[in-house]
Amino acid sequence: MKQNLIPEQRVLEEVKKAISEGIDINPASVKPESSLMKDLGAESLDFLDINYRLEQTFGIKMARRSVLDHMEELFGEESAIDSDGKLTGKAAEVLAVRYDGSGKKLHAGMDMDDLPAMVTVSSIVEGVVNLLDTLPEKCVNCGAQSWNLHEETHIHCGSCGEAATFTSGDDLTQIWLNQVQENKKIF
Ligand SMILES: [Zn+2]
Repeated sequence: MKQNLIPEQRVLEEVKKAISEGIDINPASVKPESSLMKDLGAESLDFLDINYRLEQTFGIKMARRSVLDHMEELFGEESAIDSDGKLTGKAAEVLAVRYDGSGKKLHAGMDMDDLPAMVTVSSIVEGVVNLLDTLPEKCVNCGAQSWNLHEETHIHCGSCGEAATFTSGDDLTQIWLNQVQENKKIF
């Protein structure tokens, strides 16, 4: 369910903090529209560090694998990336649904290597918000419907004190891909 204990602004601040600590840069240079790789100089390994920090901060599990990896697993090899390493038309269609309105220029034939540069501070914020919004209605431990905020970023059960459990990033990606497929029949 949509949670309303942690405002998006707070998520943005925590994402900026995780990024500036993860790649050791001045937090002031981290803007919502910054591309982690192009603008902030992040390398692949930095993403692991940043994800780990966000997982600790919010008690969530970030996706380990990309949307494209999941697409290939669900819809077959070369469904997302063709044999030349280019984005397929179908994958471009799916990504356009995901990034609708974000101004990202996605198109079939894009080089795979250009995709990581499209990860921005905002897109990470959106990912975290989506994960937090998988908060179950009831505590899985005691069944109570009362969530409390601990230390500003952790949601705990107000009755038994258990930390809330969220859908993992990889599971959420798969759920989302299946929904897109059901609605649009792209593959
Ligand atoms: Zn509980």
